[in-house]
This record gives sequence, structure tokens and C-alpha cells, in this order.
Amino acid sequence: RSLPNDLEKYIALNSLHDRNEELFFRVVCDNIDEIQPLIYTPTVGLACQRYGLIFQRPRGMFISANDKGHVAELLGNWPYPARLIVVTDGERILGLGDLGAHGMDIPVGKLSLYSACAGVHPEHCLPIMLDVGTNNQDLLNDRYYIGLRQKRLSGVAYDEFVDEFITAARAAFPGVLIQFEDFANHSAFRLLHKYRDDIPVFNDDIQGTAAVALAGLFSALRVSGGKLADQRVLFLGAGEAATGIADLIVSAMMAEGLSELDAIGRNWLVDSRGLVVKNREGLTEHKKRYAHDHAPVKDFLTAIRTLKPTAIIGVAAVGGAFTPEVLQAMAEINHRPIVFALSNPTSKAECSAEEAYRHTAGRALFACGSPYDPVKFDDKTFVPRQGNNSYIFPGVGLGAIASGSKLVTDEMFMAAAHTLAYLVTQDDIEQGSLYPSLPRIREVSAHIAAAVAEVAYKRGLATAARPNDMMGYIEQQMYDPHY
Ligand code: NAD
Repeated sequence: RSLPNDLEKYIALNSLHDRNEELFFRVVCDNIDEIQPLIYTPTVGLACQRYGLIFQRPRGMFISANDKGHVAELLGNWPYPARLIVVTDGERILGLGDLGAHGMDIPVGKLSLYSACAGVHPEHCLPIMLDVGTNNQDLLNDRYYIGLRQKRLSGVAYDEFVDEFITAARAAFPGVLIQFEDFANHSAFRLLHKYRDDIPVFNDDIQGTAAVALAGLFSALRVSGGKLADQRVLFLGAGEAATGIADLIVSAMMAEGLSELDAIGRNWLVDSRGLVVKNREGLTEHKKRYAHDHAPVKDFLTAIRTLKPTAIIGVAAVGGAFTPEVLQAMAEINHRPIVFALSNPTSKAECSAEEAYRHTAGRALFACGSPYDPVKFDDKTFVPRQGNNSYIFPGVGLGAIASGSKLVTDEMFMAAAHTLAYLVTQDDIEQGSLYPSLPRIREVSAHIAAAVAEVAYKRGLATAARPNDMMGYIEQQMYDPHY
């Protein structure tokens, strides 16, 4: 705590992780509120940007394009029985872009959260960097860059390399759950669709984000009183987070009785070129589902005035994009405007918590992607909570591996979202918190894991014997560091 800044604290915690894993996890578990932002977002973003400078010793496994043809051999060297792999190729780290091999801190941080938040044993966790090069010229010129000094593999060569990795990982660690992390759009959607119907994989940026945002909407609706199927949602951003969230909202709206077409029609995207509409040239595949018949609209504020959304969700990594005018417009249209500023790190947040409350006269139902302190407005203190994926993915992962699920399905993410919203207390709601408090995270993860495992058993996807007492079974699997 006496260290001068968060990066120094990150380095100190990393060193502790290396020296004494049990103590590291005890410290993280006991101080999760304080430490999660240090070992994960936002600090981990800075740690990745400085990776070459702060590097002390490696953690996880680096598999480079030069290892093609030998990936099985490499994985055979891993000394632990991995049940959960988080893998990235470093092409789109948080909102920071291509950080190449320096993105390794993301899988490392994510897996630390798996152990701390859901008790997945550290021995079962394997962080992997697929170092296929980088297109970031600054890194290629940086003498402290630790990765391959070449442009990224692409096309068939890239797909073959990923495929070799997936095949080798499944052979080395049968039944292993593979989480894709921080791949760029063009790879993320493709890889997810290629593998999701055959093997246990998921993409947290797409599906984990979707579930945490959906849970936030369910909580917000507990205040405003509406139904999900009646909402109109406008996204700033049209990438992995936006379309992932929109897809899960559509499924949830359909579960409330809407047709697929009507549900899709209630979700709109704005990207850097304005409102995503049908007649726009060159739309990428993942945006097409939400390209509605509408005249072009250039900017977000006009889109709000035109479409009159009940909720805006910022996932474009454009800092300050929810201007006072945007927030005021939302407050004019809605008695309780839903405002989620999910981009991170903090510098990329669409608005701060304080701005969200100030410009909506304290009426915003607000969730953020970066941590904010409580905000005093008039005579009320609001406690904004982060719509952090860490509420979802640890529990989903634990539920999937505990049941030995053969797949990770959207139904599991919907179950996770319902469970998370259900665990928000009335006290939370009254102080403007749309998520439970972080110190409850292990309880939250256990409930989510049980709900996810139930889906696996119900759908015939589970390979582990069905326990009589699901919660007891889940809790019994959870690693609890003693020190
Ligand atoms: P992405 O790169 O897939 O998508 C970004 C999107 O923003 C793209 O569609 C791009 O066209 C659009 N965009 C860029 N500039 C824009 C502009 N000026 N106006 C409108 N749109 C613009 O990234 P992603 O995975 O979707 O993540 C986006 C952001 O959301 C990141 O900051 C990420 O950290 C954050 N995020 C937060 C959470 C969370 O809080 N739980 C989860 C996932 C992602």
C-alpha cells in the first residue's frame, strides 16, 4: 500500500505470486475489492503496455509461430494437469490494440481471477500466448519487445497454427476448457463459431461480457419496473462486446416471448461511421444482424434523439463519448435512463460515474467497466459497481469443468446472468448498485457454477456423474488458499 502507484503494486503482487502462490491467493481473496483492479483491469492494461520493461520471470506458456509442427511436444512439457486454458494472440488487448506477446498478462490475470473468485485450483490453470507476431510497429522497433519480430501470421497459416494448438491441447489435457481472450474481431468471431458446437470453448470478450451486461439490465429493470422485451438498446461500438451483448439480449427477449425479428429490431449499433444501417457498404459479417432498414445517422447523439433508446451501452473504447448532451438527452427521454459505460481502461470510459449521475439529475441506472468511487449527489450517495466479467466467467468456467461439460452454450450464459441479477440485494439496488459487492464473489461464482452445471446436466452435455447436492459438490471443488 505504501508503493507510489498501481503499476508498482502490480509488480509487487506478481513477485508474491512467484514466491508464494498460496499466500498470493490468500491476499487476493481477502482483499478482492482492492486487488482485483490491480491484478486485472485497469492496471493489467498498463502492465501489458510496459511488459518488456517490468518483465522479471515468465509465467504461462509462450507458443510461437516458429513452433509450428511441435505444439504437442511443447504442451507435453507442461508439468500440471490443466483443466482450463486461457489463450490469446495479443491482437486486441482490452481497448489498447495489438500488444503482441506482451498481452500475456491478460491470460495470467484472468486465470488468477479464476482461482481467487471461483476457486479453480491454480494447478488446473494454464495461460497461453500464441505468439504469431505483431503488426504494432512500435513494438517491432522496441528493443525490450520479447515476442517474435515479424508481422502477424494471417489467413490459412494462422488458422492452421490455431488448429494445431487446439488439437494438441485437447490431446494433452482431455476435456480441457479453452477460453479465447482478446483476439481481434476478425479472428474472435470466426474461431468461436468454428469450435463452439464441437468442443468446450468460449470467448469471454463476447459471451462473458454479454452475460454481465444482461445481468446489469435485469437489475436495472428491478428499479425501473419494465420488461426486458420492452427495452430499446443503443450500443456505442459494434465489436465483440456490442454484438455479443446484443445477441444474448435477443435470446433473453425471445425467452420473454418476442419473435427473433422483433427482438433484433430492439437492438441498434453505432460504430465509428455512425448508425449501422442496412444499405451501408462494406459491413462486416458480425454487424449485419443489427443492420436495420433506416436512413443513415452520423452521430450518437442524433441516433439517441431519433431512436429514443431506454438504454445506452458504451463498448467502443472511446473515452468521454457519453457527453453531457448525450446523458441529458437520455434523461429527457427516460425517467430512469439505463447508462452502461463499459469501456476500459478508465481513460477509455464513455463517462465517469459522477458525470452519469450529474447530467441525469441522479436518475441514471449506471454500470461501468472501470472502477469508480462512490458519488455524492444531492443528499444521496451512489455506489456504482463495475459490470466486470469477473462476476461471470469464473463461475461459468467452474460449472463447466465441474460437470465436465462437452460444450459451453448460450443457455449457460443466460443462466449465469439470471443468477447474478438474482444475487443483487435490495440494499444494493437502493444505493444504485446493479451488481453484488465484490467480496461476495466466491458465493456468487458458486451459485453461477451450480446454475451452469444444471444446464449441462439438463442438456445431456455433462460427463461427470451427477451429484445429489449440486451446491455442496461445487463448493467442495473450490480451492481455498490457507496460510
Ligand atoms: P472491439 O474492438 O471488438 O470493438 C470496438 C468497436 O468500437 C468497433 O466496432 C469499432 O468500430 C467501434 N468504434 C471505434 N471507434 C468508434 C467511434 N469513434 N464511435 C463509435 N464506435 C467506434 O472491442 P470490444 O471487445 O467490443 O471492446 C470494446 C470496449 O469494451 C473495450 O474498451 C473493452 O475493454 C470494453 N469491454 C468491457 C467489458 C466490461 O466492462 N465487462 C467487457 C468487454 C469489453
